[in-house]
Amino acid sequence: MEDLSEYTKELSKLFNTSGNILLISHVNPDGDAIGSQLALYQYLKSNGRNVGMFTPNNIQEFLKWMDGASEICIYIKERRRCRDMIEKADLIVMFDFNQSNRLGEAEPYVKRSHARKIIIDHHLNPADFADLVISDPSKCSTAELVHELVNGINGKPFINRSYAEALYVGIVTDTGNFEHGSYSSRTFRIVADLLDTGLEKEKILNLIYKNFSTNRLRLQGFALNKRMVVLPEYHTAYIYLSKQDLKEFNHVKGDTEGFVNMPLSIKGIYFSAMFIEKEGFIKLSFRSSGSFPTNTFASEYFSGGGHMNASGGEYRDTLENTIEYFLRSLKEIKVDF
Ligand code: 5GP
Ligand code: MN
Repeated sequence: MEDLSEYTKELSKLFNTSGNILLISHVNPDGDAIGSQLALYQYLKSNGRNVGMFTPNNIQEFLKWMDGASEICIYIKERRRCRDMIEKADLIVMFDFNQSNRLGEAEPYVKRSHARKIIIDHHLNPADFADLVISDPSKCSTAELVHELVNGINGKPFINRSYAEALYVGIVTDTGNFEHGSYSSRTFRIVADLLDTGLEKEKILNLIYKNFSTNRLRLQGFALNKRMVVLPEYHTAYIYLSKQDLKEFNHVKGDTEGFVNMPLSIKGIYFSAMFIEKEGFIKLSFRSSGSFPTNTFASEYFSGGGHMNASGGEYRDTLENTIEYFLRSLKEIKVDF
């Protein structure tokens, strides 16, 4: 999707004619979801628009410093207020997801709303639950797409510090600090423009990546040392963590973020999976390097989806049975890495 002009025209019209605009990111929002949501928020606010924001559940600590983050309502904490926002909205913009169940508890209310609905996203195969779907899987992040749309609408680069920081967070987190995902020369040109606005990249990287607790680092050591299984014959490795393991390290939300990427740094390992035991189900994360489509695997076997190299899903069974099922699935697909 190279030509965005059709979308920018339509978006301009919608932004100018909507009294109440509501911006929503996905459940368990990551840096790209919050970054793209806040970037558009900053742009619309600077244009005097009336904008509200919510996210289905909690925002992780490492994102809370961002300008505007404290304005994002948390649906599960303020249900009535968020439902009110949905009811009053003329326009709803959703960021960084392609399945309506990623709205969490807000899903039925958003679906029922008479507001015009827009999705801005970069995942494959977007579902059809909006009036306008702006989806481009060639973008490294939803933030990158938001930036190109904003520049198109604005007619010239939009320069604003909080906006630049939000975009940078989206791009950096979704590419793992420019390590994976579909970043391109275009991404670096955008980043160059952001740096030219005076963005303090070191400060932001420290806020994102040098913000771990001691427990988190010890949990990481434990996961690699005691809970990682390497299957050289399948070029695969997996990490599993039980509820008890998490409890022992006083786990807080977000602590296991990034663990699933680590086995891919082993020579000859191209597919990595992580199993986290939750209340009544197992949450899975998948990563690959190269051409193995983890999202197809996730949707076929684990009711999930995502990107080719980064996806997730879930399975309603014990940790042990889920791992067994995973190993059977791996045999069944006979992947030739
Ligand atoms: P993570 O492993 O970081 O939780 O998720 C990586 C990516 O996989 C997310 O950006 C999201 O696109 C996708 N994903 C994770 N879990 C699920 C899931 O349960 N269902 C779907 N459809 N996608 C998921
Ligand atoms: Mn994203």
